[in-house]
Amino acid sequence: MSIVNSATQIYPSMSPANDPWDPIHSLRMHGRHMLTSVEMTITNLCNMRCEHCAVGDSLVMKEPEQIPLELMLRRLDEVEHLRTISITGGEPTFRKQTVEDKIIPLLRYASERGIKTQINSNLTLDYERYEQLLPYLDVMHISFNYTGPEDFHEVGFARSGHPVRREVSDRMYHAMIENTQRLSAAGMFISAETMINYRTHEKLPEIHKLILDMGCQRHEVHPMYAADFAEGLPVLSLEDMRKGIHSLLDARDPKVWMLFGTLPFFACSNVMEDLELVRRLRKEPMVTVRNDPDGRNRVNVNMFTGDVFVTDFAAIPSFGNVMGEKLDDIFNKWIDTHPLNQTVNCHCDAAACCGPNLLVSDMYYKQTDFKSRQAII
Ligand code: SF4
Repeated sequence: MSIVNSATQIYPSMSPANDPWDPIHSLRMHGRHMLTSVEMTITNLCNMRCEHCAVGDSLVMKEPEQIPLELMLRRLDEVEHLRTISITGGEPTFRKQTVEDKIIPLLRYASERGIKTQINSNLTLDYERYEQLLPYLDVMHISFNYTGPEDFHEVGFARSGHPVRREVSDRMYHAMIENTQRLSAAGMFISAETMINYRTHEKLPEIHKLILDMGCQRHEVHPMYAADFAEGLPVLSLEDMRKGIHSLLDARDPKVWMLFGTLPFFACSNVMEDLELVRRLRKEPMVTVRNDPDGRNRVNVNMFTGDVFVTDFAAIPSFGNVMGEKLDDIFNKWIDTHPLNQTVNCHCDAAACCGPNLLVSDMYYKQTDFKSRQAII
């Protein structure tokens, strides 16, 4: 296979001033949305069954063959402006063979091309599995929505279908903490994500403190939206969400990067409290608000079927397949012609905003035509 794009490219290093996953950079650079990020769902196996799991409905006990790695590498290589890849699951490291045969070659390819990499993991398995990733990985992304082992037990096995003993879950909780501490100490950039939901919105400062104690370099905060497994969970009011964010901003360590994503608050809002929060987020040191990559600069590839989706939630049917098409072509088809994209693809450059996520718009703004609005701050 010839790798045409394999020369290392020089990009600024990752920092609050440069988040390579944010679609605003490529939009500004090219004047239109470009595919710069590819996420691959590499397994549907997992040792947990979290209440909020983005892909819960797809989790299985045994899985089929994957598409050939060579094909995936070729498809990545054809993406002209690729800047980041993400590997997700399930638990991507669930099988050692997946780590060795798939994850490491993908990370190695990315690192040779100067592309930033992320893995979404629960970090509850043995340390050696994660240690192997140290030389290649830019961001280890974990979920952390807990104030202790009780929360972990309740949230992490909510969908297991059979009771999971506390001793088992406590062991996993402590393994996750120890792995996070050891990997952080060894130089891995660990970004812990907390979802704002009905369970966490009043405990965010406490959760933040535990994340810092584990040595994480970034705290990511995203509201939880109703999709897949999470569909039946209570919806948090925008008022409670705002309060939760303010409480976190009041209590956080301002030296640690805090990244908010998929927020339902926009600079074009006619609600004063929303505008106040947007302003505060803009002014706070070491705080960034990432525009939603899904369908803006990123697609998700299912490594079993080759199907391409706009997100790993898969609520929107696949709109292409890597077996027969290039990723840039599939992405351009979505951007230029897909009716769903046409509903949310607004852009107010002064507010560094490129519109709401599809789930956000569906959950809180069904009647709002964002394309007729404009940032007012
Ligand atoms: S880009 Fe869209 S959502 Fe963002 S401020 Fe402008 S109109 Fe509102």
